[in-house]
Amino acid sequence: MLKFEYRSGIMHANDLFCTAAFSPKEKSKYYTSTTQGDRTLNKIMKIAIFGAGVAGLSAAVELVDRGHTVEIYEKRKILGGKVSVWKDSDGDSIESGLHIIFGGYEQLQRYMKRVGAEDNYQWKEHALIYAEENGTQSFFRKANLPSPWAEVVGGMRTDLLTFWDKISLVKGLYPAITGNEAYFRSQDSMTYSEWHRRKGASEHSLQRLWRAIALAMNFIEPNVISARPMITIFNYFGLNYTATKFAFFCKNPGDSMIEPMRQYIQSKGGRIFVDAKLNRFELNSDDSIKEAVLKDGHKIEADAYISALPVHNIKKILPVQWLTHKYFRNLHEFVGSPVANCQLWFDRKITDTDNLMFSQSTIFATFADVSITCAEDFQKGMGSATGGSVMSLVLAPAHQLMDMPNEVITELVIKDIHNRFPKSRDAKLLKSTIVKIPQSVYKAVPDVDKFRPNQISPIKNFFLAGDYTDQHYLASMEGAALSGKLVAEKLLSRFGN
Ligand SMILES: Cc1cc2nc3c(=O)[nH]c(=O)nc-3n(C[C@H](O)[C@H](O)[C@H](O)COP(=O)(O)OP(=O)(O)OC[C@H]3O[C@@H](n4cnc5c(N)ncnc54)[C@H](O)[C@@H]3O)c2cc1C
Repeated sequence: MLKFEYRSGIMHANDLFCTAAFSPKEKSKYYTSTTQGDRTLNKIMKIAIFGAGVAGLSAAVELVDRGHTVEIYEKRKILGGKVSVWKDSDGDSIESGLHIIFGGYEQLQRYMKRVGAEDNYQWKEHALIYAEENGTQSFFRKANLPSPWAEVVGGMRTDLLTFWDKISLVKGLYPAITGNEAYFRSQDSMTYSEWHRRKGASEHSLQRLWRAIALAMNFIEPNVISARPMITIFNYFGLNYTATKFAFFCKNPGDSMIEPMRQYIQSKGGRIFVDAKLNRFELNSDDSIKEAVLKDGHKIEADAYISALPVHNIKKILPVQWLTHKYFRNLHEFVGSPVANCQLWFDRKITDTDNLMFSQSTIFATFADVSITCAEDFQKGMGSATGGSVMSLVLAPAHQLMDMPNEVITELVIKDIHNRFPKSRDAKLLKSTIVKIPQSVYKAVPDVDKFRPNQISPIKNFFLAGDYTDQHYLASMEGAALSGKLVAEKLLSRFGN
């Protein structure tokens, strides 16, 4: 077995820093050239996928299901990319970020079902819950009516907004509810704040309701995010009753989703290599890929190559010859959103809310007590959990946090936690962790959407997958899953499969 072929489940933090390499025998065994002619005739292709996030794994699921030879090469020692989870030295699960599945994530749910993980997530009460000062909460619950009346009536009943906010929103958001794709595209040149104000919706509702939604969606403020993704989501969620439901993974995204995907891919003959960083491509005279070269010098030959790397990684390793294509130059228009995730272990429960929570004027935008929401992980007797709350909090906007020491960030988080959860003032903090991601999802700022690339590139054997590529969702697990499906379909269709 290859030393760095991925076989086990969730990784331990200490494993993340191990190095591994091919022995010469292993190298010759697994890194042989493809017999392209025969493969093309049989329509069975060897496809190399770089990056084992949701996009790369989804593409692999599609391709192994169609009988193709799939090899995945992942830079890190763990799979999952932005949804990766690892164990620290106490045995606690550390998440790259708190992750929620929405009711509208149809493709992701299909993949969960296909890999036998359909029971690995749980739906929560259908409500937006805002944690207010001193332990109170405000709610936005949909009414039990068909959409859009469910949202309109639910909005009129919410205690989050004033009467004037509600009237202004019904009037202001009407174009979003009735708009079509062409309308949404035409609104991409302005920020959401500008759009909101132009429509006469109240300033108070912008700060009270939508700021937290913008931060949750893209980790940036409403005066930075483009109007387009916000109003697209209003339309989608305003017309589909179940789209706004939240589900949490029963354990964590690693155990509940990534691990079943890995098992499925390998059970169908797919191979997964970790500690295998793509470094560059060697080209043929027509600029197509001759071979991919890993950081340690190993060469990979395949019939087709899929990059499922984040956009900031792939743009660094594009051959200069390819930059004559606008398609590749456009990738330089994308900039990653910084974000951080903080986990806090308390010696007692500081909340009993079994759902996602939002808040305003706090260092965290969305959060949950995962000892309650993720019922099979973070429990008493597991790692540091003693039966108390384990808060997982997404910190956004986070540009100012990237260079701040973790102790300082934790102090700021605790201050806001004390303010929102009075029971925490008497609780003992047992442990805290912070994961910083300086470039997470791409910033959905005005005029960037048009640069999202199709999964088919101008290079005949090179394809792109990833949450930033062109599909109808913003960067998200669903967007990544859709990109994986699209890249597989388009690749096979280009090769006549
Ligand atoms: C804090 C946080 C919270 C989030 N919450 C949610 C949520 O609640 N719901 C939701 O839907 N989405 C959420 N997201 C977004 C979601 O995680 C991403 O949109 C999605 O996981 C991206 O998947 P991907 O496969 O496109 O990219 P990635 O997950 O980034 O995967 C890319 C992979 O490529 C690998 N790689 C990079 N360079 C190389 C190289 N040179 N060679 C080989 N491999 C390489 C990386 O290590 C990584 O594994 C959240 C993100 C963050 C950061």
